[in-house]
Amino acid sequence: MEFKYLDFDEDIFTAAASGEPNLYVTADDCSSNLNPVRKKHRKLKEPLSRAGEFMNLKRLKDVVFARDEIVLREEKLSVVLFELLTEKEKSRLGIENYNDIIEFSARFHRFYHELNEYQVEAVDITGLDAWQEQRLNLFENLLGRYEEKLQEESYTSPIIFRDFANFSTAVLDEFKRLVFLNVIFFTPFEKKMLKKLDKEIPVKIILQLPEEDFEEDKLHFQGLSLPETWPGRLNIYKLAEDNYQLINSLNLSKPQISEILSPALEDTDYDGILSPEIVEMERTDEFNSCRIYRFLEALYELLAASPLAEKRLSLPELFSALSRDHFRRYFAVSYAALEKVREFIREDFVNLSKEMARSELEEVLSVFEELEELKELENMPMLVDYLDELDMGILSSPYFSNDVEQFYDALLELTALEDMQLVSSWTDYYTDPALGLLDRFLQYIEFKSIKPALPEGKKEMNIGELLGAVQKHREHVVVINASQNWLPSPRGRDFLLTENQRRQSGLPWGEKSRAKQRYRFFRHLLTADEADVLALENEEENLTPGAFLEELKLEYDLEYADPAVTSADIPQIYENILSGKKQEKGGFLPEIENQPQNEKEPSLMAQDFPGRGRDYNLSFYKYKTLKNCFFQFFCQHILKIPEEFAGVDVEISPKTYGSMVHIMAEEIMREWKSGGELDVSEDKIRMVVEDIMDDFSLKMDHRFQPYYDKVVRDDLIESLQEFFNSPESPLAEKEEFDQVEIERSVSDKGRPFLETEPVNFYLSGRVDLLLRKDDRGFLIDFKTGGCELEQLDFYELLLKGAAVPGENFMLEKYFYQIVDRRFIKAQPKSRDEFPQKLQQLLQKFVSGGEYTKNQTSQCYDCRYRNICRAVS
Ligand code: SF4
Repeated sequence: MEFKYLDFDEDIFTAAASGEPNLYVTADDCSSNLNPVRKKHRKLKEPLSRAGEFMNLKRLKDVVFARDEIVLREEKLSVVLFELLTEKEKSRLGIENYNDIIEFSARFHRFYHELNEYQVEAVDITGLDAWQEQRLNLFENLLGRYEEKLQEESYTSPIIFRDFANFSTAVLDEFKRLVFLNVIFFTPFEKKMLKKLDKEIPVKIILQLPEEDFEEDKLHFQGLSLPETWPGRLNIYKLAEDNYQLINSLNLSKPQISEILSPALEDTDYDGILSPEIVEMERTDEFNSCRIYRFLEALYELLAASPLAEKRLSLPELFSALSRDHFRRYFAVSYAALEKVREFIREDFVNLSKEMARSELEEVLSVFEELEELKELENMPMLVDYLDELDMGILSSPYFSNDVEQFYDALLELTALEDMQLVSSWTDYYTDPALGLLDRFLQYIEFKSIKPALPEGKKEMNIGELLGAVQKHREHVVVINASQNWLPSPRGRDFLLTENQRRQSGLPWGEKSRAKQRYRFFRHLLTADEADVLALENEEENLTPGAFLEELKLEYDLEYADPAVTSADIPQIYENILSGKKQEKGGFLPEIENQPQNEKEPSLMAQDFPGRGRDYNLSFYKYKTLKNCFFQFFCQHILKIPEEFAGVDVEISPKTYGSMVHIMAEEIMREWKSGGELDVSEDKIRMVVEDIMDDFSLKMDHRFQPYYDKVVRDDLIESLQEFFNSPESPLAEKEEFDQVEIERSVSDKGRPFLETEPVNFYLSGRVDLLLRKDDRGFLIDFKTGGCELEQLDFYELLLKGAAVPGENFMLEKYFYQIVDRRFIKAQPKSRDEFPQKLQQLLQKFVSGGEYTKNQTSQCYDCRYRNICRAVS
């Protein structure tokens, strides 16, 4: 075995590449080195001579330990494991259905792969707790059956059954030598393999580190020793916030020269912040961001929530599906249909029946048909056929380059599963096959990587992953996130064993991972002409510079420099970066100007109250808003800013509940109103309640049906009985009334409550129940929530204002709380102060001339907080 050690100012690829037909091998997590060496080799190779090959260590092992059996990967391995698990084992492992096996399968394979790589036998792992012992026994038992099953079927899973009995270098004969590019960490399995390879074919290992740091006979890296003096320029910085760090790193970078490196780049959201036109970075997305997934997810949610047996679609899920542009295009549904669905939901409908769709929303009948077809799927081949028929012309996305390809790959994988007959019966896997299979497919494909379609051409900036970055020389490197928990990162493998048990068993533990991170970090810095390193320091978030950066600081007596960009510059600098607008000096640094702010509140004007003359109808609810805040009143009732659509609660809404009770009460009193008897027997009330609840079934979520049947119905019956029979009820005497009015609209048109210069206020409202007999009146308002006695005073004022001139009657006012089944009676004198109070408020509002915040405004729940200057 030949070793070659490079100084940090030498280029690995120049030292490694030759024109000879060599096999070049990189570490698995440094496959980025393959391209540069391939390019160098091509330049050196004689025309028509045999070319070299390029691969990482994992691929080399696949080649050297190749077997005749069919190699199973991913889904297929999970299926075999699932088939092998007994019910008892599933319950002990917490695997309830097939979907739970995926995570377990990945961990199981990783665990045994690691044992194989570190040549550790499970029986040699000691010091386990009882539960670990039990779990390990279960794994071992499962592994035995797994191996047997694969052998039986002539399959193999190379990552856990790699065996030196299969070692062969026959396919390597065509290469002159094996060249390992700066692979400094080998597992025991790899060391053994290297020694065997070296007997068959010359092996050369090129390492960029001091010779004394590597024990050649043991192929063991002992840790990097740093040079006495730092070879290039090096600055270090501490910053308080991540965004602030990112901006400074961009500001430090020289366009098309510098490279920014960060550990754990996939854990950052930089790709979402930085423009792909300007900043080059590895950008991958997950399949769940593309249209195909979102379309299928919407279908799944609709299918799961809709009572299709009753030919109904769940409206919240339908609304969510139709909110997606591609979903509407797929089913040729207009935007107006979405608005119609929103209207239904606002009216408290929860389901849409097919009849209702036929008469009011014909466009969505195609969605009904699609779901009915989907519901018929019974097995995976049926689902695959269904998915294969989807119109990718509508569902493919211009934002991704391989979403359709990944989708069809997944279908092929699932088809192969079926062809290999690895699954005994899909119906055993799920109780509702269509729903379960679609869910399985979504889970299978959800996290597959897809590539965003990026603009072509060289970008000004480049951000890469530090640990896997190509190991080249750089003129200028900027390392960010050199903070604790990032560099070094403590991310460990916590499956079954503790860190200590891993160490005692000979498995890799934290220290080994730190040595690798330390080498990669220092190598990138030592090989660059200039380097800047940034880390976060923020007490509140418990962030400090990481151990490697502190080591650098102490070793070379460095001080943290002040970052050039301050937090005040950030908004402007973001704008500059995203728009590519740079200042002549200072890169993306902004020129900040303070814009004067116009603090004036909107003025109250007569045009704000359109309509006949300057008339304005004031309901109790408008009064309540005005009383709370003039600006809120302006937004809600003058500008009429629509309420943000928050979907619908699955439970029956208080509005629907209240409305059902009104209708029930009206129905019970209908005959009585027209001169008949008032029948408030339990049978009568029960019949009415059941009929009306049936009429409201589209407003009740079917998933709550047992609750409605067992709880709500009886509550309503009892509440209505109480309403008619309670001694507190004005109806308890069952006396005859001259007038019974339900949901009566009242307005005092013709007699304004208050006349002012810009506007005349009239009162208006709707009274739930009004009973009159001689000179007595009874006003009852049904309530499902809180009661404000002012509402009754408001109605009294309204009724008196609307009364025939000279008419005089005594009014008793009640709330009836439906849920608590009790009457709340307003005291007669409460009405005396109210007219004056209302008048004063309206006068203050008009005379102020502006829509301001009131001194007592309650802002906490205000839906206009985001646009209101009065609150921050
Ligand atoms: S947030 Fe407060 S001040 Fe602003 S509109 Fe709402 S209630 Fe009025």
